[in-house]
Amino acid sequence: MSNSESESCKPNHKIVIPEKILKNNKIEANAKIFLGELIYFFKSNEFFHIPNEFFSNLYEVDEKTIERWSDSLVNENILKIINFEQEEAIKILKEKIPQKFTCDLNFDNNFCNWCKCHSYLLHKHHHPIRKKYGGIKTIDICANCHQEFHFLCDYRKFKILWEMIC
Ligand SMILES: [Zn+2]
Ligand SMILES: [Zn+2]
Repeated sequence: MSNSESESCKPNHKIVIPEKILKNNKIEANAKIFLGELIYFFKSNEFFHIPNEFFSNLYEVDEKTIERWSDSLVNENILKIINFEQEEAIKILKEKIPQKFTCDLNFDNNFCNWCKCHSYLLHKHHHPIRKKYGGIKTIDICANCHQEFHFLCDYRKFKILWEMIC
């Protein structure tokens, strides 16, 4: 999130801390407030990445503290860590409706191997073996698929376990 966004949501937004959480004395007070914040920002998301830098600016604590709060909510079964295997992520990306240009520019030979969209801006992604595992071969994929792949597979993502807090 940008600085202007963090400035605009600093004052005056109201958070809700569910009663079950308030009464759980295994969770420190700040982590309870933090959970209220996650509910405020992400309640409609199936899963989400916690931008530690954003929250560390919001609360004026270091990023390790944000991680500690997240971990304590995971330990209490309130947040669940979500991650995708490479094959699952690629399956999701292959099911997208590819973007299409209606102008005359000819992108025909530049297409994304996963979503099949045409684009001038193709990225090289190490596949089938990830670079971090020593892969050398690459495939061409679009910038969106590339970002989304790394989001699905590499970012630490969470899901709120509503049944544990309501
Ligand atoms: Zn793509
Ligand atoms: Zn990549």
